[in-house]
Amino acid sequence: ATPQQASIGVVGLAVMGSNLARNLARHGNTVAVFNRSPEKTRSLIEQHGGEGTFLPSERIEDFVASLERPRTAIVMVQAGAGTDAVIEQLAEHFEEGDIIVDGGNADFRDTIRRERDLARKGLNFVGTGISGGEEGALNGPSIMPGGSAQAYEKLGPILESIAAQAEGEPCVVHLGTDGAGHFVKMVHNGIEYADMQLIAEAYDLLRKVSGLEPPAIADVVEQWNEGDLESFLIEITAEVLRHTDAETGKPFVDVVLDAAGQKGTGTWTVQNALSLGIPVGGIAEAVFARAVSSLPGQRAAVTAAAGERPSPVAAPDGFADDVRAALYASKVVAYAQGFDLLVAGAKEFDWDLDLGAVAKIWRAGCIIRARFLDRIVEAYARDPQLPSLLADPYFADAVAKGAAAWRRVVSTAALSAVPAPGFSAALAYYDSLTSERLPAALIQGQRDFFGAHTYKRVDKDGIFHTLWSADR
Ligand code: NAP
Repeated sequence: ATPQQASIGVVGLAVMGSNLARNLARHGNTVAVFNRSPEKTRSLIEQHGGEGTFLPSERIEDFVASLERPRTAIVMVQAGAGTDAVIEQLAEHFEEGDIIVDGGNADFRDTIRRERDLARKGLNFVGTGISGGEEGALNGPSIMPGGSAQAYEKLGPILESIAAQAEGEPCVVHLGTDGAGHFVKMVHNGIEYADMQLIAEAYDLLRKVSGLEPPAIADVVEQWNEGDLESFLIEITAEVLRHTDAETGKPFVDVVLDAAGQKGTGTWTVQNALSLGIPVGGIAEAVFARAVSSLPGQRAAVTAAAGERPSPVAAPDGFADDVRAALYASKVVAYAQGFDLLVAGAKEFDWDLDLGAVAKIWRAGCIIRARFLDRIVEAYARDPQLPSLLADPYFADAVAKGAAAWRRVVSTAALSAVPAPGFSAALAYYDSLTSERLPAALIQGQRDFFGAHTYKRVDKDGIFHTLWSADR
C-alpha cells in the first residue's frame, strides 16, 4: 500500500508554525511537519500529536516525500535569510506545479522576487500575510494570500479551513498576484500602528487633562467598546489599564518603561507610501511617536533645556466624549490613508485588489479586527471606486459630526502640552482635504521664483513663468 500522504506541510515549527500546523490538523488536514532542529518537531508531536494527523519528518527529503502532489508547503521561519534558505531547500526537491507558501512577515518586494525566480523553475510561490499572532495561528488567523490563481485553487480550501470566521465567512481571499498578500499585510500593520497610537493618545489626555487614574480610564474605554469603537485593541486596552503590577501594587502602565518597540512593518508602510506619493501622516506619526519615545537621551536633554511647561488646562465639559469622537475621526483618517495606499500599490504593481474584500478579511483573526470594518465593507459595496473613505456618505457624516469635538481635543492637547501627534496629524489631513484653497499656491510661487519651475493659473490653461528679477 502507498504510505499515507499529507495535503499540506509546514516547515518551521517555532511559535507561529507549530500553532498553524495544529490548527491545520484540528481541521482535518493531514499535515506534514518539518523543522531544521528536530527537537521542535518531536516536541510538537509529543505534546499535540493527538490533535489530528501529523506526518513528522527529520530530513527534508522525507518531508517532501510525505506530501501529495501538487506538493504544498507553508514556510513559517524567520523572515529574510532564514526564509530564503528554506525556500531554496524546498525548491531543490519540489517539482513542476508544486506550491511553496511563505507565511512569514516578508517584505512584498522579496515576495515578488521569490515568485519570479521560482516561476522560472515551474514552481508556484504564494506569499501570504498571516495576522493575529500566535493566538490567531492556532485558533484562526486572518490570511492574506497573493500568488497565482492556479496555486490558490489547491491552497484556497486549505486556508479557508483554518482561517478566522466573520459572520460565517472565512477571513481569507486571494488578493492578487505575487506580492499582493504581503503588501496588504504590511498596510494592515501600518494601520495597526496608527490605531494603537491613537488609543494611547486618548489615554494620555484622559489621564493628564481629565486627571483620571488608569482603572477609571479602563471604565471609560470599556464603555467605548459598547459603541462604534468596538474592537480588539480597545478591548485589550481596558484590560491593560486595569492590570496592577503584582510586585509594587502600582498600575501596570506606571511600571512599564515608556519606550515603544517596533519590528519594522510600520516603517515599511511609510517608506512605501513616500515612494508612491501617498499622504499617510496618521500612520507616519504613529511610527515616529514610537521612535521619539525610544530616544531617552534627547528627551532628557531637551526637557532640561526647555524650562517650565504649561500645566494642563481644565478639562472642558464632556471631555471624555470629545476624546472618543476625536479617536473615532482620527481612526477613520488612518484607515482612509491605509486604503489609499492599497489603491496606489495595486496600481503600481498591477494587482486587481478588491478593497471591500480586504476590509472583510480584517474583521476577525487579526489585531485591527473591529466593528468599524463592517462600515468599510459597506462603503466599498456602495462604491468600489470610492476616491477616499472620507468621501463615503457614512464616514463623511460621522467625521463631520465629531469635528467640533476633534478640534476641542487637539486644541486642549496643545494648550496643555500633551503631545497628540496622531490626532493632530489626522485633523490637519482632514482640514487639508476639505480646504477650498491650500497655501500650495504660495509654494508654487516660491518654486517658480528660485527654480523657474513654472505654475498653472486658476483662470486660464497653460504653463506660466514670471520674470521675478524684473520685480526686484
Ligand atoms: P521566528 O522566531 O521568527 O523563527 C524561528 C524559526 O525559523 C525556527 O523554526 C527556526 O528553526 C527557523 N529558522 C531560522 N533560520 C533558519 C534557517 N536558516 N533554516 C531553517 N530554518 C530556520 O519564528 P516565529 O515567531 O514562529 O515566526 C515565524 C514567521 O512568522 C516570521 O516570519 C514572523 O515574522 C512571522 N510572524 C510572526 C508573528 C508572531 O506573533 N510571532 C506574527 C505574524 C507573523 P530552528 O528551530 O532550527 O532554529
